[in-house]
Amino acid sequence: MTKALLLYSKGLDSILAKEILEKQGIEVHTMNFGSCFFEGEIDISDELLEVVKKPKYGRGKGMNPCLDCHLLMYKKAKEIMLEKGYDFIATGEVVSQRPFSQTRDKLLFLEKKAGLEGLILRPLSQKLFPLTIFEKKGIVKRDEFYDISGKSRKRQLELAKEFGISSIPMPAGGCILTDKEYSKKLKKLIEIKPDFDSNDAKVLTKGRVFFDEKTMFVVTRNKEEGEEIRNFFKKGDVVLEPQNFPGPTVLVRGSLIKKGKEYLIKYSKKVPEKPNILIKRI
Ligand code: SF4
Repeated sequence: MTKALLLYSKGLDSILAKEILEKQGIEVHTMNFGSCFFEGEIDISDELLEVVKKPKYGRGKGMNPCLDCHLLMYKKAKEIMLEKGYDFIATGEVVSQRPFSQTRDKLLFLEKKAGLEGLILRPLSQKLFPLTIFEKKGIVKRDEFYDISGKSRKRQLELAKEFGISSIPMPAGGCILTDKEYSKKLKKLIEIKPDFDSNDAKVLTKGRVFFDEKTMFVVTRNKEEGEEIRNFFKKGDVVLEPQNFPGPTVLVRGSLIKKGKEYLIKYSKKVPEKPNILIKRI
């Protein structure tokens, strides 16, 4: 039996890709990647951080290095395909759905770069791609694939009806690298700490974030965030917690702090007569 490894985002496009392949009797195994920037099962944070820091093929409107990220996912999927013995990789990709990273030419370019020429099937847009060996050999039927392109979801919604899919997932908001506000913070973080890690990248999504020269302050906005921020505490950080009055917990990370120590400081409303350098800055 032909076995496909489907990169599965859980969005409508990937659900349809699965249906289309299964209709042809193909055994479909799904998987999705996750990282400190988006949810998913197989964690690729370490590799993705490297391309976020220095993308080879540029970024989208935010800090999203979509081409590099896509390439990384293709390469990782290829490793899994070879290891587990799948015949090909499938995706729910739709040509030109994203102008920067998902044009036909760019997808073919990335496919080639990943060493996967002719080994990726995109059921929703397959008719717009060159014939693969699987189609030539009749292992899959090209006639039963589609030629969908562009951002409109009209044809996907029609197909969902045909396949009897009644619960349509909302388009995934997913990746925070495309978020304008997050991207501003990440850009600043890269400037002050080019070797940032996944903890740094994630903590930017919490509270209100301020930068002062080479130091980052994350000021929590409510009790839950105050408790959550403690999970990010790491060597070299200072965590300021209010003493005897309600107020924000503040995580301070950066060069204002002596390296190699952790501090948990309780603060009160009263400003010390001789504030130290950290308190003066705050
Ligand atoms: S939007 Fe995010 S997850 Fe998607 S390809 Fe771009 S960087 Fe990767």
